[in-house]
Amino acid sequence: MGIVIKKYGGTSVGSPERIKKVAQQIIKAKEKEPEIVVVVSAMGDTTDDLIELAHEITQLPDEREMDMLLSTGEQISCALLSLALISMGCPAVSLTAQQVEILTTDTYTKAKIQKVSTKRILKELKANKVVVVAGFQGITEDQNITTLGRGGSDTTAVALAAALEADICEIFTDVDGVYTADPRIVKDARKLELIAYEEMLELASAGAKVLQSRSVEMAKKFGVKIHVRSSFNNLPGTIVCEEVADMEDILVSGVTSNLDEAKITVLDVSDKPGMAARIFTELSEKNINVDMIVQSASENATNDISFTVTKSDLLRAVQIMNVLIKEIGARGIISDDNVAKVSIVGVGMRSHCGIASKMFSVLASKGINIDMISTSEIKISCIIKRNYAEEAVRALHDAFDLAKKDNRSEFRV
Ligand code: ADP
Ligand code: ASP
Ligand code: MG
Repeated sequence: MGIVIKKYGGTSVGSPERIKKVAQQIIKAKEKEPEIVVVVSAMGDTTDDLIELAHEITQLPDEREMDMLLSTGEQISCALLSLALISMGCPAVSLTAQQVEILTTDTYTKAKIQKVSTKRILKELKANKVVVVAGFQGITEDQNITTLGRGGSDTTAVALAAALEADICEIFTDVDGVYTADPRIVKDARKLELIAYEEMLELASAGAKVLQSRSVEMAKKFGVKIHVRSSFNNLPGTIVCEEVADMEDILVSGVTSNLDEAKITVLDVSDKPGMAARIFTELSEKNINVDMIVQSASENATNDISFTVTKSDLLRAVQIMNVLIKEIGARGIISDDNVAKVSIVGVGMRSHCGIASKMFSVLASKGINIDMISTSEIKISCIIKRNYAEEAVRALHDAFDLAKKDNRSEFRV
């Protein structure tokens, strides 16, 4: 058996008791897996609490300082887990991103991993220690601390798995695996045995926070096999891997919602070349990721352009747009954070038609208005009012028969 990566999320290390349980699990696993690298998230809601704390100081916190603050959560949990292991007689060592040398870009709060050194970890493994790495954090070339975006410990785990050529990257979390929908919203959601990287990537980027989308992107790129499973039992979870032959038979693999988006509309933008380029270049230069974009039909030589950003970027995006509209002569902006994105995902969509119209009809039958639509080869997303998100997810899960394993019936070709 080669190196195994085990990542434990916030709930899994949420209390001293939980940390001791995790330590026992690791010690048991070490009998069969001698080389274990553990990645931990911050305990419970620590990251949310730290963000709130910063907001008590300022509504627009400096992003470098924010990362300095947020990285402390993972430093606590990795030290505590290492303490637990050592106290139980298992040699262990905790390491920060700086000690491992996880080099990232300097895009604070959403840094990208550029390089991972394996030297220190391999040295500690050779000394028979369990290596416990603080997730979510990185270090720039100038030795500034960064973080990898919410849920970023998943990406730390996959990056280490890729660099160390680990046999498997196990993501231990508070659900039994990846389900057809968030099991907290849809009671009859079904656990998937396998899911293709591509589907998982779309589900994750559409809001299924069970894996951070960047981690799936990286796993696909480097062929890292991920096993998403529960830290509370020993049941097999979901394997995220390359697409296999019969996956296309299944039309829709999952439905998800994302409450973390906000919409901005720029009113009366001149209908001439270069306007969209100005708006979106300005945002990307300030490291604001834009998700959906819709431009209305031209009327009186002007258009309205709507787009969505993450809620945490909304204030900064509004600030930037308020300056820009004066330069480009647009009439004003409207921002709305009372929205949600619902999406259906499945590789089978490539070879079947009628799925989009069915999705729109299901939403219409519930009286849910669609604000924006975007499609990719294997995903359809709609922006709707936030308070309809759960109802929409349940209705779509029902309508596409996702609780049943064979949900192809009416679309069989
Ligand atoms: P961790 O702290 O272990 O990283 P997260 O809270 O980030 O855990 O992710 C796990 C949560 O993801 C689950 O508790 C579940 O509510 C949610 N979730 C959303 N969509 C799905 C899905 N399709 N399958 C499984 N879990 C999902
Ligand atoms: N603690 C960070 C977060 O809450 C990273 C993680 O849990 O993966 O987003
Ligand atoms: Mg997570």
